[in-house]
Amino acid sequence: MPKRGLIETLADEIKTCRKCGLWRQRKNAVPGEGNLDVAVMLVGEAPGYWEDVKGRPFVGAAGKILDGMLSKAGISRSDVYITNVVKCRPPENRDPLPSEIQTCTSFLDRQIEIIKPKFLVTLGRHAASYILAKAGTETEGITKIHGKIYETRLLGFEVFIIPMYHPAAALYKAKYKDELDKDFRLLKRRLERIT
Ligand code: URA
Repeated sequence: MPKRGLIETLADEIKTCRKCGLWRQRKNAVPGEGNLDVAVMLVGEAPGYWEDVKGRPFVGAAGKILDGMLSKAGISRSDVYITNVVKCRPPENRDPLPSEIQTCTSFLDRQIEIIKPKFLVTLGRHAASYILAKAGTETEGITKIHGKIYETRLLGFEVFIIPMYHPAAALYKAKYKDELDKDFRLLKRRLERIT
């Protein structure tokens, strides 16, 4: 089946999922969105207030920051597919529980298998630790590993994993914003090499 059909079938499953308790308080599950023939997949943490309302990833305050950073680096939102580790909003935007991550990430794995991105950019520590562990790569704190490029195999294909800070971090510290800008510029340079 073409990618579009596979991803839509998966999105329907996500929207009706009741595998953990998060469905009880959601307005909308947020499967993810974007062009499916892209080289870059961005993986955030979990939907926040506006993502839950709209059913779309990164459309609230963190999304505005992300859009600004992408465009500053010369990357268009249509050049990336965006999703999250957990597809439903945790109450009060708390961290997702390990059990929620464990239950939900079969969806993320399937999205990765369908899209097969060349670059997997993790935003924040939850996405980094899940993806790097899945690739069998040792992880350290996000402060040490952001902006590194891990060339590895994941789910049966070759991928470059680039951990970055979560864009929401830039809301409260200029240092994180600078580092994120730098890391997105790095991504852009790497993208230019393959296109
Ligand atoms: N933060 C995330 O990690 N993901 C979103 O979709 C929005 C905010």
